[in-house]
Amino acid sequence: MTEAVAPGVGTVDGSLSTVEAYQSAILQAITPLPPVRVELADAEGCVLAEDVTAAVPLPSFDNSSMDGYAVLAADTDHSSERSPATLPVMAEIAAGDTAAYGLAPGTAIRIMTGARLPAGADAVAPVEWTDGGTARVEIYRPVAHGNAVRYAGGDATAGETLLEKGVRLRPMHIAVAASAGRTMLMVRPRPRVAVLSTGNELTEPGTPLVPGQIWDSNSYMIAAAAREAGATAYRRSVVPDDPAGVLPALEEQLARADLLITTGGVSMGGEHDVVKAALRDLGTVTFRKVAVQPGMPQGFGTIGAGRVPIFTLPGNPVSAYVSFQLFVRPAIAALQDARDLRLPGVRATLTASVRSPEGRRSYLRGVLDGGQVTPLSGQGSHQIAALGKANALIIVPERETQLPQGETVDVVVLP
Ligand code: AMP
Ligand code: MG
Repeated sequence: MTEAVAPGVGTVDGSLSTVEAYQSAILQAITPLPPVRVELADAEGCVLAEDVTAAVPLPSFDNSSMDGYAVLAADTDHSSERSPATLPVMAEIAAGDTAAYGLAPGTAIRIMTGARLPAGADAVAPVEWTDGGTARVEIYRPVAHGNAVRYAGGDATAGETLLEKGVRLRPMHIAVAASAGRTMLMVRPRPRVAVLSTGNELTEPGTPLVPGQIWDSNSYMIAAAAREAGATAYRRSVVPDDPAGVLPALEEQLARADLLITTGGVSMGGEHDVVKAALRDLGTVTFRKVAVQPGMPQGFGTIGAGRVPIFTLPGNPVSAYVSFQLFVRPAIAALQDARDLRLPGVRATLTASVRSPEGRRSYLRGVLDGGQVTPLSGQGSHQIAALGKANALIIVPERETQLPQGETVDVVVLP
């Protein structure tokens, strides 16, 4: 649970973990949040913890898909512009009219979209095919059996599974649940994520910069990324590089977080790596190098009696971002027992050559347009401006050090 990858397991050269080995160690350590019952109106973004089945067929009664006239198709067999079928209009049925209507052969009933088809009718002549008459109607074309009729059960049959456990509820799913008559759903809630950035150089955006300082962008970015990934996220103000202050700052968040994320303070062997220094002695967080570029130094484990998962992401903003998408995002999904663990990927053609360090998988920032992907200039892990132009990450496999223009590559589509 607290253990991540054992030394040497899933490593590239005995010291670097592969991306996959690290991801699976993380997922093994995550226990999904307990399911809760929520109102339909609050369910968006939660993940279904039960299947939703149709209580009744969808639609539940035969009805018209157009404004027009309910008829017997056979009564219009010989209709044409010159010699229309002329039928007396016996009634009008609006959507929501629950009275029982019957259609006699040789007659028509005016009917609106969504209104129940009268017994005896087998087709609807759209109003556009008629003169729109009220006492009697002229129909200018033959109407086929079943024309403009939406049959009961044509969308789903009673008892059919409409939504499966593990689905992250998006607006269309909320509509499906409502159409199944549900008011409450069993879901895994949005995980509560606390984000802390560390560094003496960091100040809040909005305060004047003294040379040597930078505005904290990571905590805003990672909190936003966590929200986008399905969490309820909040950021704490910047934590200074004070080893004595880091642990208390983290512990303060434990009672109200299902997941903690820090950025900064974990680089390799730096003297000011306060996050590493503060967590190493707990023995529940493992620091390792992952064979990835950017984002090599990673830490993951649990903290506190409640064993809250914690990620310590590198401080460079692009490294923090890529690390989040590769490692934290699946953990948020796993807390919800969701199926959408990973971002979607596509294959695309490189419009320019790219380089990558040997033995590490690169995730280069790029612009995906149709089937083509263009690497951005400015691939440094501090280059947040270039990240801001990207909509995709270009994957360069560990074994490649360069790929030529025209090569087909795997691309991660950014949310
Ligand atoms: P660290 O991992 O703490 O050694 O930081 C690596 C680099 O990332 C340094 O250039 C930091 O100034 C920068 N950095 C760290 N944290 C942040 C942050 N919250 N926002 C923007 N840049 C950061
Ligand atoms: Mg730092």
